Amino acid sequence: MANNEELFKKITSHAKEYGFIFPSSEIYDGMAAVYDYGQWGVELKNNIRSYWWKAMTQMHENIVGIDTSIFMNPTIWKASGHVDAFNDPLIDNKDSKKRYRADVLIEDHIAKIEDKINKEVEKAIKRFGEDFNKEQFCSTNPRVLEHSAKIREITARYATAMQNNDLADIKQLIEDLEIVCPVSGTRNWTEVRQFNLMFSTKIGSVSDEADVIYLRPETAQGIFVNYLNVQKTGRMKIPFGIAQTGKAFRNEIVARQFIFRMREFEQMEMQFFVRPGEELKWFSYWKQERMRWHLSLGMSASKYRFHDHEKLAHYANAATDIEFEFPFGFKELEGIHSRTDFDLKRHQEFSGKKLQYFDPELNDSYVPYVVETSIGLDRMFLAIFANSFTEETLDDGSSRVVLRLPRVLAPVKAAILPLVKKDGMPEKAREIMNKLKYDFNLIYEEKDAIGKRYRRQDAIGTPYCITIDSQTSEDDTVTVRERDTMQQERLPIANLASYIRENINPLIQ
Ligand code: ATP
Repeated sequence: MANNEELFKKITSHAKEYGFIFPSSEIYDGMAAVYDYGQWGVELKNNIRSYWWKAMTQMHENIVGIDTSIFMNPTIWKASGHVDAFNDPLIDNKDSKKRYRADVLIEDHIAKIEDKINKEVEKAIKRFGEDFNKEQFCSTNPRVLEHSAKIREITARYATAMQNNDLADIKQLIEDLEIVCPVSGTRNWTEVRQFNLMFSTKIGSVSDEADVIYLRPETAQGIFVNYLNVQKTGRMKIPFGIAQTGKAFRNEIVARQFIFRMREFEQMEMQFFVRPGEELKWFSYWKQERMRWHLSLGMSASKYRFHDHEKLAHYANAATDIEFEFPFGFKELEGIHSRTDFDLKRHQEFSGKKLQYFDPELNDSYVPYVVETSIGLDRMFLAIFANSFTEETLDDGSSRVVLRLPRVLAPVKAAILPLVKKDGMPEKAREIMNKLKYDFNLIYEEKDAIGKRYRRQDAIGTPYCITIDSQTSEDDTVTVRERDTMQQERLPIANLASYIRENINPLIQ
């Protein structure tokens, strides 16, 4: 764990030092849980968004995208349940004055018990070697059974308390589990209170007459309230989907772990409208399809897992998270939810407008069911960035930091480097740059020794370094150095565009 914390610190400082992510308002000492994207960060973020957008819309004939506003009629948030129920249970430690999410304290406690199980498993692997059967071990070893039973007991008690909004019992649970404040080390807790996560502001010029409105806490509702507009104007036939990316705002109580949990963040969501009764089939389709998208980026499958929800939100009849192994452990990266007809029915009720679909095959009208896929763009950024960050010792004993970003997402696709600043090399390099720069994001650099320039490109994840040397003026060839292998090959200038294009092609089909 200590090692991972160390690694995570290196990752966050690399992100700042190389122009990917800056703390917001830094010269005024920053703002908690708000970040700005720098010159390379914005390119990487745009590329992730575009990779998602293309995979969801261009690659699916029955999905279209929209872009709805952040401000919406406040009744929408009544209908969706956010005004009354978009709460986190919070608790304060009276000694440290630190505030926590009660559910997170309990989850962290469960994670510690899970760690104990993992330790037992590791010990057993060492003892039994090749003959080890994990499933059998976990279902028979008394210590593991005891730990698992404890986890089930805590989870069930927490779920019941939340369902009954029994905040006193949540506090009691924290006390019974003897959870201490990580800062003060004491158990001197306040009562648990509910805290609404929506930011509100006022619209209108005269302040006392102005209406309270909210900054949207999710992009999904903008899709629901436009569902008929899109269905009619796009002549969409069920099943079909609507995708959207955009900012969402949540007044998160616990702001930590860098861009994992922010107060202003971006979501990439898709709502898929289906016939009632067919939602679970589509739920499992989207589970597989979204995992396929993740794996297409070439990150190891062992970094991902599904976490099916046992306790479902009142509107859902199936839900799973795609979890990713961040440096601080497996955490939710994406949610896939079968939301039934809850949202559309509520909007029908609150707006008084019919939101039905006439199904020509069934010759019948109904309110469609919805399967949602929802992923945080910033969280995906963190997953990719952390996973790509590599420190290497090279054969000659020197070391380098390289961002092994999936090439299709790399902020800069190639650096154009004249070997020296004379003999016509800069001019030739500029010529190549001008030919390629509309199609690819490129960097031109002539300062410093070539090795130093290679390292700078490694650190921002540039897949190719194209070097113009003395041979270039003789035969119109250049060397192309690949980031991960550091291998170089000689290529004709005329082939550069197709070479880069072929090698940065996405793997998704
Ligand atoms: P969590 O349990 O981590 O608070 P959630 O279950 O509330 O997340 P959803 O409402 O399902 O999250 O939102 C969908 C996705 O949006 C999440 O999977 C996550 O990637 C992203 N997301 C949610 N909250 C934040 C946040 N505060 N900062 C960054 N990304 C977020």
